[in-house]
Amino acid sequence: MSNKTPKPSTSPWARTSDSTVHGRGLTATKDVPKGTRVIEYVGDKITKAESDRRDELHRARREKGEDCCVYIFELDQTYDIDGDVAWNTARLINHSCDPNCKPEYAEGGIWITARRDIAQGEELNYDYGFDWENYDEHACRCGAPTCCGYIIDKSHRWRVRKFIAEKAGKKVKGKKKPLANPLAKLKWADLMRLKARFEIDPKRSLAIAESLTCGQLQSRVGLIPGASNFFRGGMTTYTIDAKVELLGVNRGTAEACNAVSETVAKQMARGVVQKFGATVGVATTGYAEPDDQQRVEVPFAYWAIVQKGPRGTWVETTGVVKGKGLIRAAMQAKVADKVIAQLVETLKLPDGESQS
Ligand SMILES: [Zn+2]
Repeated sequence: MSNKTPKPSTSPWARTSDSTVHGRGLTATKDVPKGTRVIEYVGDKITKAESDRRDELHRARREKGEDCCVYIFELDQTYDIDGDVAWNTARLINHSCDPNCKPEYAEGGIWITARRDIAQGEELNYDYGFDWENYDEHACRCGAPTCCGYIIDKSHRWRVRKFIAEKAGKKVKGKKKPLANPLAKLKWADLMRLKARFEIDPKRSLAIAESLTCGQLQSRVGLIPGASNFFRGGMTTYTIDAKVELLGVNRGTAEACNAVSETVAKQMARGVVQKFGATVGVATTGYAEPDDQQRVEVPFAYWAIVQKGPRGTWVETTGVVKGKGLIRAAMQAKVADKVIAQLVETLKLPDGESQS
């Protein structure tokens, strides 16, 4: 065995960065496809007996009120890996209750693997899987809708919620059922990817003009932790007058199509960029339900994403979403989700062009 300290481990997919959650973290340097082994979790290979000894030591330190985390992973039946060494870069990865990575056994070691597609600039995280015991020693600030406020394994989170609800004097029905979460259907991963798109280029900022989605886009963006770093604001305009007067949409163009066209969507997006002094604008307009008067049988919407280019030019992306058979609320949600995903796609920087 050599007594030289190994060099800190590196990954072609990620680099260390200041975390928005806690201390230092690891951030994707490019888009990472699902299933990619991002970085190996390295450390001291120790026997089970040594592992137990270190575990006891940590417990004693915690009981004395010291803040210390356990970095020990089970490797196989004989050995564990203690990742609490300076050269284990993967130890910097933070916990999330809705993680984009997971630990995995591969190539005779432990790897941190992408459990979904990860966007360039997105902070990496995985579920630490801490036990129920002493759960309240590790507060969690990951911001995910599934977060219970503590770093604890998914399988125990219902218990924490129940415990907190009981402490607050609320009745908890049923035994194992988690409390109903109104955000359960939210596409949280896309919101995290969108956050990353703005973090890789801090000069970017967003404004939103909505007609069909009626605030749903804004409310989604508003849920992103740290949204105020890039979200300037937005508005809902339902009438032609409001679109013309507040967003500078051309009246003739709007009147010719009942304000539902690709051009109107673009003009709305440009207008809201100007209004809020943002660099990226997004807009939606369409029919959220069938409309006899306008002879609309299938709900549809136009969306536009505009970015300020050099010397007064605009870079624009547009599209249509159809919602055959959808009720109004479902159509609105579908369009809002689609536009968020489209923003993630559109705002990608070419490889190696990270601004920070
Ligand atoms: Zn959390």
